[in-house]
Amino acid sequence: MKAVVYRDAHSVAVEDVDDPRIEAPTDVLVRITTTAICGSDLHMYEGRTVADTGIVFGHENMGIVEEVGSGVTRVRAGDRVSLPFNVACGFCRNCLSGKTAFCLTTNPPYAGAAYGYVGMGPYTGGQAEYLRVPFADFNCLVLPPGDEHENDFAMLADIFPTGYHATVLADLNPGETIAVFGAGPVGLMAAYSAMIKGASKVFVVDKVPHRLQLAEQIGAIPIDFSAGDPVEQITDQTDGVGVDKGVDAVGYQATVSSGEEQPAVVLDQLVDAVRHTGRLGVVGLYLPQDPGAPDENAANGRLLFNIGRFFEKGQKMGTGQADAKAYNAQLRDLIVAGRATPSFVVSKELPLDEAPDAYERFDRREEGYSKVVLRP
Ligand code: NAD
Ligand code: ZN
Repeated sequence: MKAVVYRDAHSVAVEDVDDPRIEAPTDVLVRITTTAICGSDLHMYEGRTVADTGIVFGHENMGIVEEVGSGVTRVRAGDRVSLPFNVACGFCRNCLSGKTAFCLTTNPPYAGAAYGYVGMGPYTGGQAEYLRVPFADFNCLVLPPGDEHENDFAMLADIFPTGYHATVLADLNPGETIAVFGAGPVGLMAAYSAMIKGASKVFVVDKVPHRLQLAEQIGAIPIDFSAGDPVEQITDQTDGVGVDKGVDAVGYQATVSSGEEQPAVVLDQLVDAVRHTGRLGVVGLYLPQDPGAPDENAANGRLLFNIGRFFEKGQKMGTGQADAKAYNAQLRDLIVAGRATPSFVVSKELPLDEAPDAYERFDRREEGYSKVVLRP
């Protein structure tokens, strides 16, 4: 089958690879109808990680179940399914408490697995014609049949639940104010989730004009950090006290700096923009220290963070990969009910063959390439 394969830094290719097959009785094979490119793929694409040449990318997948293992009882051939990016077992201690991003079974000795991701287990990605889904009864979210809402449902594998998770980590309540740093697809989904949860004011910080425009379109207040200190802009619009809650949907990108010192710029700005005793949700990815990574500076898990200020303000912080499974059924039902249309972030629909060009443009944050979905 055809798949998007990592070649080298800044290079992916569409190549023929082995067809996946059922390996365990609890597996299904899914024919991919839509698969999205994610900001998380760029960590590997830009060559910052130890991703091996030849790995198939793609953790934002949906499609039609084609073949079912003998131990699968709930999912049937022909079902239209969304696949949360976390590969999880459903029965370990973490899965049992809903923490499927920290599954203890699927990527030992680490906690948490994903499709097509370096360090996240042996699971090949879904930017391809077919995908093997382990523990399929647990990992398949069954969708209404047909082709309605395809792009909305395609956001259920990762960024819609991840954006929602950010507001959960930040403990956002109705009527509260929140600042989301980053107007990439994840930040926009966090802002959108905040609107759904009834936030009174949602600020979205970025400098890319078309991304800030999208934020404005959903009713958020755009803050252009290239036009002045974002903390001041937010404080000025919240009676000088700051927002109740904050989200980091930027991650490593804002930490890369020259020299020895790497300030965690967005985390420090969040601490300043959020009021005393407020809470921060961090879903932007910070790479752990990995001595084998080609760019050790960028993959250095140790950053300068003003913990004194964080302590002084009595704030709390939640972090980590999102447990997509914890929210995806509810978010699916919002889509079906017509109360959420996360596809507003999708700016391009392309055949699989055009993935190499799409990666390049998405990586440059080019207009029209904010969120690319591929149709194998
Ligand atoms: P993206 O790269 O498209 O978006 C990041 C945005 O941040 C860009 O628009 C960029 O202009 C903006 N930005 C850069 N520096 C900034 C600064 N100093 N202040 C404000 N904005 C700034 O990526 P994305 O797809 O939206 O993903 C965002 C992050 O979320 C990535 O790190 C990704 O790996 C991570 N992620 C985490 C999870 C999870 O489960 N926790 C899931 C998906 C993605
Ligand atoms: Zn993703």
